[in-house]
Amino acid sequence: MKSYEKLLESNKEWATGEIEKDPGYFDRLAHLQKPEFLWIGCSDSRVPADRITQTQPGEIFVHRNVANLVVNTDVNLLAVLDFAVTLLKVKHVIVCGHYGCGGIQAAITKQDYKPVLNMWLRHIKDVYRLHQTELDSITDEEQRSDRLVEWNVREQVYNLAKTTIIQRCWKKEQRPDLHGWVYGLKDDLINPVFEMKAGTAIDNLYQYDNL
Ligand SMILES: [Zn+2]
Repeated sequence: MKSYEKLLESNKEWATGEIEKDPGYFDRLAHLQKPEFLWIGCSDSRVPADRITQTQPGEIFVHRNVANLVVNTDVNLLAVLDFAVTLLKVKHVIVCGHYGCGGIQAAITKQDYKPVLNMWLRHIKDVYRLHQTELDSITDEEQRSDRLVEWNVREQVYNLAKTTIIQRCWKKEQRPDLHGWVYGLKDDLINPVFEMKAGTAIDNLYQYDNL
């Protein structure tokens, strides 16, 4: 059996098992999507949002990309954000990075990863530059990249707050709260490093007053 065929086989086993456990499971699921959370995580295969939070299908709306970035020209991310905030009316948006992130580590090096990846990783280099004095002073490479993981998560939460999607919702409905978390691959624990409650004042420069 080829590796991808094993996935299809496992899917059949899983579906049969779920129906045996609870005959109404898929019926209920098909008619219900009312997640309270939008999760913006890293594409890394070791950080599955539902598994590490023990949530069920229907509970978390998920977007993942390399190093969990919120880029204001990324139509994919913005469409997910708009859909989750405006239509699904999520109460919390969580940006979850992880220690040992390959995207973050790559951004610290001088390696040329060719145009597309260079373009993406540039956003992380820009976060480094904001905290260069502190980061340069950390001599241990792993510690330095893990510290950048934390600063990156915080910066992506700020990036969410800069969007009109979030600002409009804060103004009209006092939601969602924004959270910056970091998951540890070594201990499986999530470290909450930053939070912006709905309505938190942000730098004047990024505020829109005609929402
Ligand atoms: Zn990662």
